[in-house]
Amino acid sequence: MKFKSTLAFAQQLDKADTLAHLRNQFHIPKDKDGNDWLYFTGNSLGLQPKSTKEYISQELEDWANLGVEGHFEAKNPWLNYHEYLTAKMAKIVGAKPLEVVVMNTLTTNLHLLMVSFYRPTKSKYKIVIESDAFPSDRYAVQSQLKFHGFSSDDIIEWKPRKGEELLNIEDLEEIVSTQGDEIAMLLIGGVNYYTGQFLDIKKIAAIGHSKNCIVGIDLAHGAGNIQPNLHDSNVDFAAWCTYKYLNSGPGSLAGLFVHEKHSKNKDLPRFAGWWNHNKETRFNMRMPFDVMEGAEGWQLSNPPILSMAAIKASLDLFDAIGFENLREKSEKLTSYFEFLINEIGSDDIKIITPKNPKERGCQLSIQVKNADKSLHRKLTENNIITDWREPDVIRCAPVPMYNSFTDVYRMVSILKGLL
Ligand SMILES: *Cc1c(COP(=O)(O)O)cnc(C)c1O
Repeated sequence: MKFKSTLAFAQQLDKADTLAHLRNQFHIPKDKDGNDWLYFTGNSLGLQPKSTKEYISQELEDWANLGVEGHFEAKNPWLNYHEYLTAKMAKIVGAKPLEVVVMNTLTTNLHLLMVSFYRPTKSKYKIVIESDAFPSDRYAVQSQLKFHGFSSDDIIEWKPRKGEELLNIEDLEEIVSTQGDEIAMLLIGGVNYYTGQFLDIKKIAAIGHSKNCIVGIDLAHGAGNIQPNLHDSNVDFAAWCTYKYLNSGPGSLAGLFVHEKHSKNKDLPRFAGWWNHNKETRFNMRMPFDVMEGAEGWQLSNPPILSMAAIKASLDLFDAIGFENLREKSEKLTSYFEFLINEIGSDDIKIITPKNPKERGCQLSIQVKNADKSLHRKLTENNIITDWREPDVIRCAPVPMYNSFTDVYRMVSILKGLL
């Protein structure tokens, strides 16, 4: 499709957009005069579906009326509440239900997964991460190294080549083929938080496995944004949060994936609690520990129902729309955004996110030469909510669920005026 950089054209795209009505199902924050913010930080905290309140109210009401009996008598009995999320969450990440569970928070899940899958020996202990890994992932990995008696320097960084911003899969191949005998694990962001690059997860898994390295993927910026096809990719494990593209509220619970090939391995070392004990005998309270198969075998505690209710509201919405439909709009919306940025025609502005729509999600990371944080402040003063990363990058995520083509048009015209 040939794009045009006019407001009328953006409005025409909105009119033709069969998902445009979804915006009304979200609370869009407004300024004090009642104008909608141009919200581009769904990659940091997704907006609230209007249905979330009802879902949480239902559980509050059942708690008020039923007390402990809510575990069995609530409209959605709490005892099995996490199971209501599993199939829909599995679809979002392209997994089998057996492979997925919602529990804890992201960094906690990464640690629990590393307890089982990061099993260093004296000679094979190093961990590969991206040089631009999200800080929490880097800290988690460093602390695991130290916990096992190694140094936090025993990290191998997969870096972009000199003068480039994006990662090249050949460089990972090179790292693993030359140093693979010392590498125990790769922990890679499936969609890099800084550049928005969507990596070839299946290829990463094959590269890691060629030298018997465990492969784990952080999908914080992937889940609800791109389709990672986790099962087919053959990665060993993955984890993701639900408050970014999955719109489930600040600090909401996280997802965890363990590939089916590990599902029956009861010998994997892991931490235990009553919630990864066999459901049939869990409440006998006296049995020797009997671990569950699949991803549920990593749970520890009975889960927070109020937080899960928000996730249920969001997943029901995703399920009703169909992820492929969202992705189709997303590619078009981001391509239009890219087109408009390029139309500014300034040498000071550069998109560092891959140009190929298959190698990115909705986010564009825009580098502005010689800019400082005052640009970000000015954008905010104009109702444009973006994320600033030092030294000079604005991360913007037009989210297909609630952002419009007009949002993108307005954002770029204001940015152009500020440059
Ligand atoms: C957002 C994000 C986190 C945050 O971790 P929490 O445990 O949810 O605070 C971690 N890693 C990545 C890659 C992220 O994008």
